[in-house]
Amino acid sequence: MRVPEIPEEIAPALRAGDPPAPAQVAARPLIRRSARVPRSRVRLADHDAASLAELLCKAGGTASAARAVAGKVVRHAFGAEPGAPAPAWDAPALAALGVGAWAHEALLALDPGLSLEIAEQAPSTDDTLRLVLRAHDGALIESVLIPGPARTTLCVSSQVGCARACAFCETGRLGLARQLAAGEIVDQVRIARALAAERGGAPLRNLVFMGMGEPFDNLGEVLKAIRLLTDPRAFRFAPSHVTVSTVGVADKIEPFFREARAEIAVSLNAPDDARRQAIMPVNARFPMAALKEALARSLPQGRRVLFEYVLFDGYNDAPEDADLLAAYVAGLRCRVNVIPCNPGPDPALRPPSAARLDAFVARLSGHGVTTLVRRPRGRDVGGACGQLAGIARLRPPSPA
Ligand code: SAH
Repeated sequence: MRVPEIPEEIAPALRAGDPPAPAQVAARPLIRRSARVPRSRVRLADHDAASLAELLCKAGGTASAARAVAGKVVRHAFGAEPGAPAPAWDAPALAALGVGAWAHEALLALDPGLSLEIAEQAPSTDDTLRLVLRAHDGALIESVLIPGPARTTLCVSSQVGCARACAFCETGRLGLARQLAAGEIVDQVRIARALAAERGGAPLRNLVFMGMGEPFDNLGEVLKAIRLLTDPRAFRFAPSHVTVSTVGVADKIEPFFREARAEIAVSLNAPDDARRQAIMPVNARFPMAALKEALARSLPQGRRVLFEYVLFDGYNDAPEDADLLAAYVAGLRCRVNVIPCNPGPDPALRPPSAARLDAFVARLSGHGVTTLVRRPRGRDVGGACGQLAGIARLRPPSPA
């Protein structure tokens, strides 16, 4: 089902900086095009409860009063069910929450609105929906909504572009344009949650940081967003249903587990250093042994790593490569997600045949490794793993 686009005629007035007419806000509280706001005005969704409490302490509150107010505010602003009208954000609304006048000025200086607007929606024939979202400065990022029988998943971006330059990834071709603010990560979820509710089907309950960017290169903002998204007063995502996928920035693994309650996925993609380094430049700085050592040292009790292993035909998909992979992951609590490669920037990297994929999976499972195969979703609209191109997508193709 195609989700209705935001009427184009609303856009020019909003772009000129006019506040939207109340009727428009009421009609589409969450997915309207957002007005431009001065850069200096920080957004409410850039704060988790802890950073909000810190701000309120600076505004004159005691630590305990600041914590109590921050809790009430995140519940009020973000705790409503998807599709509910935008909560009021003014002095009477704060007073009704029991927030003292001392906190009003600091709070009302924060913008509760969305930092992103929908630039394009690309529905796939498999029900996946690729979203192109535009930030206040014109930056474009992509998120992918993936419906499932029990729950819907959102694949979110953590950066505009990416500095990691993996050979098989479209985002890697862009380079890094800028970091996303925590609110821009949260707003991908707010927008997608409203769309998922409109479309019907299972509710959005699962988040994977597998969109554009390397989350561990923007860890502070990613952690703040996760804390707000998993806050039981705010968005209430189960920490076990939030997965952060990293290229393998080994020195960020320990801080990640120290500061977030979420799951980790690690993109391995090759069974040895030589082949990994040839397609993933990060391997020069953090070779596979260092990566494994950091995981073994930091993985909390009872948690598992999800290794992602993209299969490239004739490159890393031989039965002996499955043996090497099994030896590498031995001793770590983990699962391996095998992903047939999607068409990316390097035409030499192709998906294996079904027979080679099956043989690889059987060999890996035969070593006792819990092995899952990730079916490509959204490939027809360029929304599958490694295909998110953001700004490049809306640019006219350059002449060959
Ligand atoms: N930077 C993070 C998250 C973004 S990529 C990371 O690297 O993990 C999300 C997943 O898509 C990664 O596992 C990555 O290896 C995979 N991926 C990238 N390009 C792909 C392609 N062309 N085909 C299949 N998977 C790809």
